[in-house]
Amino acid sequence: MMFDLILRNARIVDRESGLADIGVSNGRFAVIEVGLPKGVAPKEDLNGRLVVPGFVETHIHLDKSCLLGRCNCEKGTLEEAIGEVAKAKRGFTEEDVYQRASQTLEKAIKNGTNQMRTHVEVDPRVGLTSFRALKKLKQDYAWAIDLQLCVFPQEGLLDDSGCEDIMLQALKEGADVVGGAPYMDKDSHGQIAKIFAMAKQFDVDVDFHLDFGLDPAHLDLIEVCRLAERSGWGGRTAIGHVTKLSAMSPQGLEAAARRLAAAGVAVTVLPATDLFLTGRDNDHNVPRGVTPAHRLRAFGVNCNISTNNVLNPFTPFGDCSLIRMINLYANVTQVGVTSDLASCLDMVTSASAKLLNRKDYGIAVGHPADLVVLDCETKAEAVCEVAQPLFGLKSGIRTFNKPAATLLRPI
Ligand SMILES: [Zn+2]
Repeated sequence: MMFDLILRNARIVDRESGLADIGVSNGRFAVIEVGLPKGVAPKEDLNGRLVVPGFVETHIHLDKSCLLGRCNCEKGTLEEAIGEVAKAKRGFTEEDVYQRASQTLEKAIKNGTNQMRTHVEVDPRVGLTSFRALKKLKQDYAWAIDLQLCVFPQEGLLDDSGCEDIMLQALKEGADVVGGAPYMDKDSHGQIAKIFAMAKQFDVDVDFHLDFGLDPAHLDLIEVCRLAERSGWGGRTAIGHVTKLSAMSPQGLEAAARRLAAAGVAVTVLPATDLFLTGRDNDHNVPRGVTPAHRLRAFGVNCNISTNNVLNPFTPFGDCSLIRMINLYANVTQVGVTSDLASCLDMVTSASAKLLNRKDYGIAVGHPADLVVLDCETKAEAVCEVAQPLFGLKSGIRTFNKPAATLLRPI
C-alpha cells in the first residue's frame, strides 16, 4: 500500500495498546498499526507523543472579537458588554468583520483547533454584514478548519421588530445552526419556541445562550428540554453558559442533569466569560459562576468547554487556546483526581465533536486525516501542563507548525 505520509510511534488518544504508526493516504487515515514497513513514504517520528484528532471549539464569537480598543469595559457586566458591542456593531463593515475574525481564527488554528462553531449576530441594524463576512471566511479557511455559522439575535428577537426576517434570510443563505438568547426578550419562552420553529423549518441544530446569573429559581433550560423532546431535537440542541447551575445544591444539580440527559440537550461551559462577568455585585468572596460540567457528565449530559469571547467587553482576554481553557476550567472547578483530569480533555475534543454531530471525527481508518500532535504523553499531562500543539494535519495536509521551545545552554 502507498502512503503520502507515515507518522511513527504515535500515542493515539484513548487507544489502549501502546504506540502505533499512522499511515495517511489521499487525505484519510489509511492504516493504523504497529511497525509499518520502512522506506515507503515520507515519515516523521513522534517519539511517543500524544496525538488527538484536533481541538473542537463549539462556541466562539468571531464577529465581535478584537473590539477592545473600540469599547468601554469598566463595569464588567453582561449589560455593559451587550450595550458597548451594540454601539460598535453600527460601524461594522464586511471587511472589518473579516479582518478581525480572520485574526482570531488564525490564532485558533495555530493552537490546534480544526473544528469550530461560531455564533454570528444578526439584527435589523447590522443586517447580514457579519454573516456574509464569516461565510467568506468559512470558505477561505476550509483548508485548515471546518467552520459552522450559528446565527442568533443577541439584542432580542420578539422585542426587536424586523429581527426575525433577518434571521430567516440568513438561514436561507446557508446558516448552519440557529441560536437564541431568550433572556433578551420579555417572553423568554416565546423566543425559545420561535427558535425551535426555525430549526424545524430549515432542519438545523439549535444552540442557546441562557440561564445567566446565580439565582436558580427559574431555569429556561427546562423549557428548552421540553421543546427539544417535543420537536425530536434531542442530540441537536445545545445550551451555553448556564451559570445558574453553578449556584445549585448537589441535589438540584443532579435533577437538572438528569433532565438534560434525558432530553439530549448538551451543555457548553465558557469559563473565561463566566468568571469575568459573574458576581459583579459582590465586593468580596466573589462567586465563580462556572458550572461544573464534569459533574453533569457523570449523569450522562454531553458537556464541553469553549472559548466564547476574545478581546472584547464580554471577555477582555483570550488566545484561542482550548488547552489553556480546559486547564483554567479544571483549576477553577477544583478537579484533582488524575482520571478526572484526563477526562477533562474530552471536553475540548470528542465530547465537543459529538455536540457538533461530527460523525467522521477521530483517529480511525477511513476518517479524514485530521490530527494534532501535543508535546506530552498522557491526557492528564495535557490538561495539567497546558501541553502545546506541535503541528497539525487537516485532511492529511500540514496546516501549522509550532515547534517546542529549546534551551540554548552555554557551550
Ligand atoms: Zn456566546
